[in-house]
Amino acid sequence: MVKDTKYYDLLEVAPGASESELKKAYRKLALKYHPDKNPDAGDKFKDISHAYEVLSDPQKREVYDRYGEEGLQGEGAGGGMSPEDLFSHLFGGGGFFGGGGGRSRPSGPRKGKDMAHALKVSLEDLYKGKVSKLALQKQVICQKCDGKGGKEGAVRQCTTCAGRGVKIIMRQIGPMIQQMQQTCPDCQGEGEVINAKDRCKGCNGKKVIAERKILEVYIDKGMQDGQKITFTGEGDQAPGIIPGDVIIVIEEKEHPRFKRKGDDLYYEAKIDLLTALAGGQFVINHLDDRALLVNILPGEVIKPGDVKAVSGEGMPGYKRPFDKGNLYVKFDINFPPPNWADQSKLALLENALPTRQPLPPVKGKEVEEVVLSTVDPMQQSRAHMNGSGEDEEEEGHGPSVQCAQQ
Ligand SMILES: [Zn+2]
Ligand SMILES: [Zn+2]
Repeated sequence: MVKDTKYYDLLEVAPGASESELKKAYRKLALKYHPDKNPDAGDKFKDISHAYEVLSDPQKREVYDRYGEEGLQGEGAGGGMSPEDLFSHLFGGGGFFGGGGGRSRPSGPRKGKDMAHALKVSLEDLYKGKVSKLALQKQVICQKCDGKGGKEGAVRQCTTCAGRGVKIIMRQIGPMIQQMQQTCPDCQGEGEVINAKDRCKGCNGKKVIAERKILEVYIDKGMQDGQKITFTGEGDQAPGIIPGDVIIVIEEKEHPRFKRKGDDLYYEAKIDLLTALAGGQFVINHLDDRALLVNILPGEVIKPGDVKAVSGEGMPGYKRPFDKGNLYVKFDINFPPPNWADQSKLALLENALPTRQPLPPVKGKEVEEVVLSTVDPMQQSRAHMNGSGEDEEEEGHGPSVQCAQQ
């Protein structure tokens, strides 16, 4: 029975939590609330660090369990580790082992690099939402040695460079003495050495191992192209650094039927002339498993290029999935082929359609009747380039035409 569960609550564990559970919980929370990553978290990092400092010490934990926070008053508030120290200790930080106990990085741990990955997502998945699994190769702290590279005490500060990883060498060139900096040959710039036999078998002294990790990426309804999903602290781990983030960038795949602008969808529908004039129905297969049966009212009259909207059938809004955009439909009309109708059908049309516009007056002008011929678009564009309506390719010798004209 513990007197007070505050410290356990801070670390989000049960009062009976084992040492490793405590450690795991602290690691997770410390990453989340570290001031470098989460400057708005206030004293949270300090608080969880203090809680962990107490609970990870069996003596202090016993006192706390029995007497609560007051029981610790006599322990001397100044005697504890600073949160940064505790952090770098847990993450195998530099300066914690090695002689003198001096801290080599008083400014606290650095943050590792962020890693960005593009994730191609279909419009269907952005419409319906989806959980995507993404396999990721990353470096993690070796659990066998806790990122120390070897047994407790096996890792020693390199004496050659005093842990700095570099060596200053003096060289005399004539009367001058030149000072040069060189990567320490004894520790290869690591600042510490491990005897081969004490090296951790798990990581071969490298402190980190490669791990395949599956990330569950929640594609929320209505997410947009270019939107980022951040996995805090899922980047490569290394001793003494706060792992960077893994950032997933959504890449919207092109869709064969729909185009998207914000929350609106655009669709091109081809309907036949009769439907356009007399009404009818057409079907739009939506991004979920629904088919929209769209009604055109009799006599509504749809012209080629007309745009109409089906309200509320666009994309769901991000974080407000019930608030959907519109579906805009642009129409193309399927006209009947040439010579589709005989005289009797045309007579019916003559009867049914609005009467013809009267011709403008031509009185007093010389009237010449002409007919239309079909234009081949290929031929037309070539004629346009040549700057003349004539097909000069057959002739093959433009200049001679000019000669003839002279
Ligand atoms: Zn060295
Ligand atoms: Zn190891």
